[in-house]
Amino acid sequence: MTKAILVLNAGSSSLKFSLFEYEAASDLHLMAKGQVEGIGNAPHFVAKDHHEQILADEHWQGEDKDHDHCLRAIATLLNQHYQGLKLLGVGHRVVHGGAHYAAPVRLTPGIINALDALTPLAPLHQSHNLAAIRAVASALPGLPQIACFDTAFHRSQNQINQLFGLPYSCYERGIRRYGFHGLSYEYVSSTLKQREPEIAAGKVVIAHLGNGASMCAVQNGKSVASSMGFTALDGLMMGTRTGNLDAGVVLYLLQQEQLSVQQVEELLYKRSGLLGLSGISSDMRVLLDSHEPQAALAVDYFVHRISRELGSLAASMNGLDALVFTAGIGENSAIIRQRVCEQAQWLGIDIDPHANAANEFCISAIDSPTTVWLIPSNEELMIARHTRTQLGL
Ligand code: ADP
Repeated sequence: MTKAILVLNAGSSSLKFSLFEYEAASDLHLMAKGQVEGIGNAPHFVAKDHHEQILADEHWQGEDKDHDHCLRAIATLLNQHYQGLKLLGVGHRVVHGGAHYAAPVRLTPGIINALDALTPLAPLHQSHNLAAIRAVASALPGLPQIACFDTAFHRSQNQINQLFGLPYSCYERGIRRYGFHGLSYEYVSSTLKQREPEIAAGKVVIAHLGNGASMCAVQNGKSVASSMGFTALDGLMMGTRTGNLDAGVVLYLLQQEQLSVQQVEELLYKRSGLLGLSGISSDMRVLLDSHEPQAALAVDYFVHRISRELGSLAASMNGLDALVFTAGIGENSAIIRQRVCEQAQWLGIDIDPHANAANEFCISAIDSPTTVWLIPSNEELMIARHTRTQLGL
């Protein structure tokens, strides 16, 4: 009988799943993965096995195709294609663990309620994460479920790096820098430790450059500081999010331009970033292929923000030994990596253009004082590994 761990990542309009085979003596193997995109609009369900063979490719109609429906579709698919499969547990990506949860946790009704209380801190994500957990609990009662938090990796940061210059009572009320993308950073730094233990023991900045983007200073495998703060809006400019923004701009939009709170939220999260600056697209590939000056401006600002955060994060560790690129843009765009590295020569970075163009593991020149690496992220595998550990397997 095949034993497996299911990983779920529920977003506001998407539900992603990965199925990993468990065998006592070896690492987890991916058996299948898939996702439903466009929930609430025109959902599209795609699933593939580990040979990239299509298991499902369906467009759904109707507003009743909610997250529950998606979970049932995934369960039906797994029953059809993997008969006799024994699920050992489900690992969930949960965006917020607040100040308390510094590690993955096995879910109980009490812990689910405690995580529910954190919903105001991540209104766009937390409720969907918890809805998936509750749906599994009601469909498969007794099946262990593990929550893995995007914030947990950053709880090693000292207090200074979690503060804002607000009255201290705000910090006590939970208004602090939490940091996100923690599962990605944890996976990337564990991979670096496995392959280059001496580098991983030093001062490393990891640049997670995807649609959502952030950077993290990691010293000896522990998070020291992050570009993202209270919400996933701060730091780098992203596909549609502003990144770092003078809070006075928000007041100006509300008071002088009379925008509603909802309009400001929409502007900051959905109409800014690469999309807002270029007026063309949030997709880096489209901007890099474009000859429009606004596309070039958006890319220039994206690189500029990374350079500034890199300097700031290096300062938080009093130095820099290595830079690691990951996520969609970081893993695939040699030109963005090259431009970031060229602006970071003052930090001892000397890129090897051939290794960079070939997407190699080490992309710095042989005598570069600060080394540069390329490590594809795998948050799902990180969640599956945590789930396995929490299950005592
Ligand atoms: P998400 O945050 O949604 O998980 P991803 O990590 O998948 O995002 O990254 C998506 C981003 O990666 C998009 O901006 C996309 O254009 C970019 N990307 C993917 N491949 C390339 C490439 N070859 N060159 C430049 N950008 C790329």
